Amino acid sequence: MQAIETIQQALRRACLLLSDSSDSAALDSEILLQFVLAKNRTYLFTWGDKSLTSSEALKFQQLLELRLQGHPIAHLIGEREFFSLPFKVNATTLIPRPDTEVLVETALALALPANAKVLDLGTGTGAIALSLAHEQPQWQVSAVDKVAAAVALARENQQMLGLNQVVICQSDWFSAISGQHFDLIVSNPPYIDEEDHHLNQGDVRFEPLSALTAPDNGYRDLFHIADLSRQYLLNDGYLLMEHGFEQGAILRQQLKDLGYQAVRTIKDYGDNERCTLAQWVNCD
Ligand code: GLN
Repeated sequence: MQAIETIQQALRRACLLLSDSSDSAALDSEILLQFVLAKNRTYLFTWGDKSLTSSEALKFQQLLELRLQGHPIAHLIGEREFFSLPFKVNATTLIPRPDTEVLVETALALALPANAKVLDLGTGTGAIALSLAHEQPQWQVSAVDKVAAAVALARENQQMLGLNQVVICQSDWFSAISGQHFDLIVSNPPYIDEEDHHLNQGDVRFEPLSALTAPDNGYRDLFHIADLSRQYLLNDGYLLMEHGFEQGAILRQQLKDLGYQAVRTIKDYGDNERCTLAQWVNCD
């Protein structure tokens, strides 16, 4: 065990330790030490000469070792911010990504009724559904996931955020949704090709494959949702799905072939095609 260090020394050592395995070693070290001390970043830099207690030092060391093994920061601290809201996370589902905030922004910019009925398919932590409900408290938001542990996690986040109006239930895509129609269906389904080599790198190694990969080069769930949503959308309703940065063209074509209109893809902050919007205009 190391001699007891000051905050500043502990941060410096942590940063060196992580620098080979993480490209955000300094930030990772600060976030983990903030978590151990239950203090904010300003505290770390204001009280850099303060010594850690032995139990704080031990806890910090244990977290650094897990980080060295590649465990995502979000799993180590049990939380991740999304759309300026805190979300509890665990290994049962995907960690919310900044890229997905583009989908939320796109949904919020649509011209929808004041009490729009919205469905989030494969909600995971609940990040998309709960962010929408937080921004638009009058919307009637439902969220489903086929994994019971994800439903439990989304409900925990719902309670923590006080968004009691959101209905969260277990459903394999539309299996438990009957007789309902929506102004907007959103989803961030699994869309990574099962053979993608990125699956062996970074945070995704610690996330469930069921939330990440899909057969048919990653398109199976995207296509399935596109197909079935036609039965669950109100006239002029929208479907908005996140997808891989190289999947836009094929997905747009599929949506057009299925009869959707006004199909367009929105880019993320990294300038990659990230989500596609389509409208269901029922002519009968
Ligand atoms: N965007 C995520 C990633 O590339 C995957 C999200 C998903 O499959 N829905 O890591």
